[in-house]
Amino acid sequence: MNFLTRYLTRRILKKNAIPFKQWRDITSRIPLVQFRTNKEKARLRLLSTLFIHKKSFTGAHDLTITMDMAITIACQACIEILYLGLNAFNGWIEIIIYPAAFVVQRETMDENGIVHKQVNNLSGESWGKGPVILSWEDVEKDSYSLHSGHNIIIHEFAHKLDILSGRANGQPPLPPNMSKEKWSEYLGKAYERLVSKINHHEHTYINNYAATNSAEFYAVCCEYFFTAPHSLKQHSPDVYGQLQAYFRQNPIELWD
Ligand SMILES: [Zn+2]
Repeated sequence: MNFLTRYLTRRILKKNAIPFKQWRDITSRIPLVQFRTNKEKARLRLLSTLFIHKKSFTGAHDLTITMDMAITIACQACIEILYLGLNAFNGWIEIIIYPAAFVVQRETMDENGIVHKQVNNLSGESWGKGPVILSWEDVEKDSYSLHSGHNIIIHEFAHKLDILSGRANGQPPLPPNMSKEKWSEYLGKAYERLVSKINHHEHTYINNYAATNSAEFYAVCCEYFFTAPHSLKQHSPDVYGQLQAYFRQNPIELWD
């Protein structure tokens, strides 16, 4: 960080810091933050302040976005970048929030050239260099109680980390001490194992949505890493190890 960036960052933190009482009132209701050490909570507050300052929050369908809502989203998104830094969320600005699940209509072409209309009800979505879109109803549901293996904020912002490498393929830019080959091998094998189990109608420990493609597999594994780390480590220790090295944190320690 150069001198000017450091100066501007300090200014933002000084002028716009999230008031402590407001921060405590909101985050005391969010288990993912409550698990954190005091030092990490303080760092999360700083990162969330910068996050809210740098990103724009827009309400869809007349939804008014309050500071409390912005903090709820920021503090959980920033858990992912606690040790990566805010630059890992570069390349996009906007977060659009719908009051509830939103309907998306898309046209897809199959291998015979026939166009199919798809209508999906979504609770969240991340666009390449575009916005993160979230349903507030789902944000609330996932924020104020812990759902093992499910958190829409962790999921959508994990896609943003992935997209930083140029495309969503389940391989975010890795630090120099990590091997791309190992990441691909470990996550790839776990993904194939999941697909095979589903094809054989066997029980899977992980949400079947992860079998959609490698980008969704990575995003769902991130949800487990932060909300059900024991389960991920038990069933896919290699994947847990890669995420632990990438995020530079070991959530299991917080649970024990
Ligand atoms: Zn996804």
